[in-house]
Amino acid sequence: MKTIGLLGGMSWESTAIYYRAINRGVAQRLGGLHSARIALYSVDFDPIEQCQHAGDWQGTATLLCDAAKRIEAAGADFLLICTNTMHKIAPQIEAATALPLLHIADATADALLAAGISKVGLLGTAFTMEQAFYKDRLSQRYGIDVLIPGEQQRQQVHGIIYRELCAGLIRPGSKALYLSAIDELAARGAQAVILGCTEIGMLVTQQDTEVKLFDTTLLHAQAAVDYACQTEAELT
Ligand code: GLU
Repeated sequence: MKTIGLLGGMSWESTAIYYRAINRGVAQRLGGLHSARIALYSVDFDPIEQCQHAGDWQGTATLLCDAAKRIEAAGADFLLICTNTMHKIAPQIEAATALPLLHIADATADALLAAGISKVGLLGTAFTMEQAFYKDRLSQRYGIDVLIPGEQQRQQVHGIIYRELCAGLIRPGSKALYLSAIDELAARGAQAVILGCTEIGMLVTQQDTEVKLFDTTLLHAQAAVDYACQTEAELT
């Protein structure tokens, strides 16, 4: 079994979900008392969030490249960045170490294509919903069309992530707002909706809606389990 490198803490609330899902996934796959080999580095999120909102992406890259090197030094065989948003600087993080990167959008696209979905709604931070790094990867590499909510809803979805979910706050009003955003995306033709922020699964799950949801945290964690447990024969 390979050692999974987790670059976490963005926020720690969702890193805890990764940790549990990966360990459960390995136990399910290998049986007995097997658990995952993990090298986790969990950052202090506050300075990173400040850089994000100041548009200082180079500042985030400096912090996260340093973290990735520590994970490599700790013996990881490959790397996950445990947030959708910070995949904006995935190329810099990838270049900072020799570790292969399991990209969260690739894990999500694989699941969408396997389910036959080619038009999808996307909820996440404003950075993820509005900028090219995520949507373009889905459309250009996988031919998946991406719909996002209108501006006011995007601001609300974004605000709830930083003010509530990253602080562990779950509010019924916020859940209702997310569910109406999901319904509106489906009404506009989305065959499914990506929970494209690693905390959204704390607020909304498949039990809350008929619209098919793709939770990036769980998909990314499962991709890590599959990759870590792949045998040499499966790799060749
Ligand atoms: N965890 C979130 C995401 O998946 C947002 C926190 C961050 O800005 O990294 O995008």
